[in-house]
Order: sequence, then C-alpha cells, then structure tokens
Amino acid sequence: MYVFIKEKDTQKTFIDEKKIKENLSSNLNPDSEKIRNILQKSLDKQRLDPDEVATLLNAKDEKQWEEIFEAARTLKEKVYGNRIVLFAPLYIGNDCINDCEYCGFRISNKEVVRKTLSFEKLKEEVKALVSKGHKRLIVVYGEHPKYSPEFIAKTIDIIYNTKHGNGEIRRVNVNAAPQTVEGYKIIKEVGIGTYQIFQETYHYPTYKKLHPRGPKSNFAWRLYGLDRAMLAGIDDVGIGALFGLYDWKFEVMGLIYHTLHLEERFGVGPHTISFPRIEPAVGTPIAERPPYQVSDEDFKKLVAVLRLAVPYTGLILTAREPADLRREVLKLGVSQIDAGSSIGVGSYSETDPEVIRKSQFILGDTRTLDEVIYELLKEEYIPSFCTACYRAGRTGEHFMEFAIPGFVKRFCTPNALFTLNEYLNDYASEKTYKEGKKVLQKEIEKLDEKQKKIVLDGLERINKGDRDVRL
Ligand code: SAM
Ligand code: SF4
Repeated sequence: MYVFIKEKDTQKTFIDEKKIKENLSSNLNPDSEKIRNILQKSLDKQRLDPDEVATLLNAKDEKQWEEIFEAARTLKEKVYGNRIVLFAPLYIGNDCINDCEYCGFRISNKEVVRKTLSFEKLKEEVKALVSKGHKRLIVVYGEHPKYSPEFIAKTIDIIYNTKHGNGEIRRVNVNAAPQTVEGYKIIKEVGIGTYQIFQETYHYPTYKKLHPRGPKSNFAWRLYGLDRAMLAGIDDVGIGALFGLYDWKFEVMGLIYHTLHLEERFGVGPHTISFPRIEPAVGTPIAERPPYQVSDEDFKKLVAVLRLAVPYTGLILTAREPADLRREVLKLGVSQIDAGSSIGVGSYSETDPEVIRKSQFILGDTRTLDEVIYELLKEEYIPSFCTACYRAGRTGEHFMEFAIPGFVKRFCTPNALFTLNEYLNDYASEKTYKEGKKVLQKEIEKLDEKQKKIVLDGLERINKGDRDVRL
C-alpha cells in the first residue's frame, strides 16, 4: 500500500481518472426503474457502488431528481432524526508556504495580513466562543513549519483547559496539513475529535495546476494523508472536496472512491464528508470566478447524492453557504453545521472589519449562533452540542447511530436535549429560550416511558445547576 507514495507513482493511487470517466459515461440516461432500485438500496442503509452513484449523478429530468431528493430526505429522517450538531471554526494562524490558487492564505498573496494567535490571544478567542455557548470547534491552520505537530497539540491543549463561566470546549476537530504518522501521534495525544483533510480536487491534472509549489503540490502525500492518521490511531477522519475547481460529478466520484479505499484498508469509512464551494477571497481572482462554478441547483444534487451514496457518514455544511440555501440543504441529509462563525485570525475577540475582510474567504451566512438556533428550533430541529460519544470512548459515533438499532433513541436524542437545555439556561436570548423550552417539551412527549424518565431526570439536574450531563 502506498503510504509514502512517490509523486511519479501517483497514477497508481485509488483515484483512477479513466475509471471515473468510464463510470460516468457508461451510466448515461438511466431509466426511472433503475434509479428507484438504487434509491431502495440506500434506504435499506447500504453504501452504493461507484456505478450506482454515477447512475444517480446522471439522472436526466426533474422528476427523477425529485425522487432522489425525496429519498435523501427520507433517509435522513429515518436514520438520524431531527438533530443538527453545531460547531464553530477557530483560525489559529494563516502563515502558509503553499500557493493554492483559490486560497486567501497562499504564500504569494500580498493582500492578506499574516497572523498567528499568541497563547494569550487564543485563550481570549476560546472564552469569546464559550461565552456564546459553543462546545465544539474545528481548529484551522495554514501549512507552515511553525505549525508543527507539537504546536498544534499545544494549542488544542490550551483550548481544552480554558474554562469560562459554566462552559468549556469539549471537542476539538482539526483541519490542518497532512502529517507523518509520528506527527499525528503527537496530535492524537491531546485528545482530538476528527482530523479533516480536503483533497480539494481529485482530478490530478487540475490539482497539479492549482498547487504549483510547497508540500501540498504532492497529490499523493495529501491523498494518503488520512491513511497515515488512521495508522497513528486517529479513528475519526473527515474527507472533502472544494467544489468549483473541476467538474462536480467527477469530485463526487472521487469522494466515493476515497470512501471505498478507507473502508477496504481500515474496515471503516470516513467519519464526515465536507463539500465546500469556493468563496471569494481577498487578492484571489480565481475565487471570484471559479473555473467550474457549481450552481445552487447542482449543489443540492451533490448533497443528496452524497447522502444516499454513503448513508453512514456525517455530512458537514458550512457557513460559506448563504442562509436560504442552508435551510434547503439541511433537509437533504446534513448532520452538522457551523454557526456564529468568524474566520479571521483573532476575530471572535476582536471585531475590526479589516481583519474579517482579509480572512481566508468571505462567509455567506453571518447570522449569530443564537439566531441560527432560534431558526432551527422554529423548524423543529433539535440543535445539539453533544460530545458524549467521543468522550466515552465511543469513536465513530456517526457509524453507531447508523448501524446500531436504537442507538439514536438511547444516546443521541437525550444528549442532544441535555446540551440544548444547557444552552437555553446559560446563553440563549429570551425568544430562543422560550422556543427552546417548547421544543424540549414536544420532544419529551415523543419518548417512551423509560426514556422519558431518564431525560426528565437529566433536564432537572441541569435546571438545578449541574453541567455536562450526558449518557
Ligand atoms: N492549510 C490546510 C489545508 O490546506 O489543508 C488546512 C486549512 S485550509 C485553510 C482549509 C480548507 O479551506 C482547504 O482545505 C480548502 O478546501 C478551503 N478553502 C481554501 N480556499 C477557499 C475559498 N476561497 N473558499 C472556500 N474554501 C476555501
Ligand atoms: Fe495554505 Fe491551506 Fe490555504 Fe492552501 S488551502 S494556501 S495550504 S491555508
């Protein structure tokens, strides 16, 4: 297996451009019967094969797409229910030795202000986030020798140890450069959640063109980055593609082949899949007009197909997307969103508009956490800050939610309600508080007697002042 694959051997990876193009071109114009059989397979909770995914991607008319959307909505409801997990990104530093043409942080961009949080400033950022009610973060770093595994581990350690009022950060996920196995082990030591690496594009010629220098120019080093994370014992890994760099259907197929590879090699697929679209960034012309811009309509299609193709995985939708579109896409199977996000380095504890303007890219959804929670409640979702599984050693929880009958009922729903109640008591605005308590009541009514008792006990403990109540 190519863990330390040489650049010249890149064509031997699990991404075979010819094969993907063949999958897509040999499943054109599918009839509705064939599509329905595939949808049934995913509703039976089975992962789809590449030819089946290509068939869905080639659905030819609105009626077929409506059936695909409907199946994605049903699958989400049937397996995961109405919980949405909330998190925030925290940018630690934007120095970078790579030159990714679409990114505001690339080395050749003279317009961005370079900054790395001091440990003191990091604590302020964490306190600002905790004071809004956040419990889960994704920490983000440019790729630079100063962001060594030791540095990354130290910053995460500081985050976990910064308590503020009634709260603290309970799960830190990481989005940073691919590491060596040894590097991952150092980072794993401090207790991380998911390690995310986006391949950006699975199309090798496009990748080479857009990553002209720096360590990221090695396609295979990045492609096998999460293999090394797994070898280092990090069980939860997140894959992703940056949509807009190449044909979106090809990228969806790339994500599927990446999933298959992880399943084959480690017996478990990715914990999450991300599908960011390119957003404008200061000093970055290509981000203003991406070469393969994905329309909102196609974006919905790709989310629905990913949901159906890998039914066991978490899907992450970010605040890069505008609020209206987020509302629609949530229903198609998204399980996590960020909210109240700010992506300037230091921008949670400081509100200089220049810092925000000069961040990595420009956000589409700038609502506060409280506004997002209010809206989720209005639409009868349960906003959740749950971090219970990973802290109880139940890694791969998304897989368990999917695979173990009764798991959601036994763990996820009660824990979501507990963390929502904490949020309402400690951080919510008056109107969110009222709406939230109504939703709690409604959700309690849906439980059987045994669960009702467990949940009522937990909620009562929280109302009396206990925190971090979890099953
Ligand atoms: N430097 C590390 C790396 O490249 O893997 C991690 C941090 S990087 C800032 C995180 C992700 O941001 C990238 O993987 C890329 O997909 C995304 N990104 C870069 N430029 C973007 C843009 N203009 N719009 C949206 N997302 C972007
Ligand atoms: Fe650096 Fe990551 Fe931006 Fe590329 S995407 S320039 S590696 S921060």
